[in-house]
Amino acid sequence: MSGRNYMGIPREKIAWYPTIDAALCINCGACLDFCSNGVYAQGATGVEVANPYNCVVGCSACRSECPSGALTFPDKKELIRMLNELRATV
Ligand code: SF4
Ligand code: SF4
Repeated sequence: MSGRNYMGIPREKIAWYPTIDAALCINCGACLDFCSNGVYAQGATGVEVANPYNCVVGCSACRSECPSGALTFPDKKELIRMLNELRATV
């Protein structure tokens, strides 16, 4: 989805979304079932982060649903630094 803003910043400029470590993922679908924002989708080879910018900025709730520790997010301090930097430019 495009055209959304977070704190006045275009959502697509904010690098906050989950990353799946394919080496750890067992393709259980728990993240897909858990997130109601359509971030994940079933791809040809397994669950994928199909719509990263649908992820709620600062949310990492699905991480604890993953049984294999395959989900990672950026550091929250890095998120704050990034937001401050982006806010200064809008
Ligand atoms: S962090 Fe939250 S919004 Fe983002 S994918 Fe996980 S449950 Fe969905
Ligand atoms: S919850 Fe974890 S192991 Fe299951 S599909 Fe998602 S990333 Fe893969």
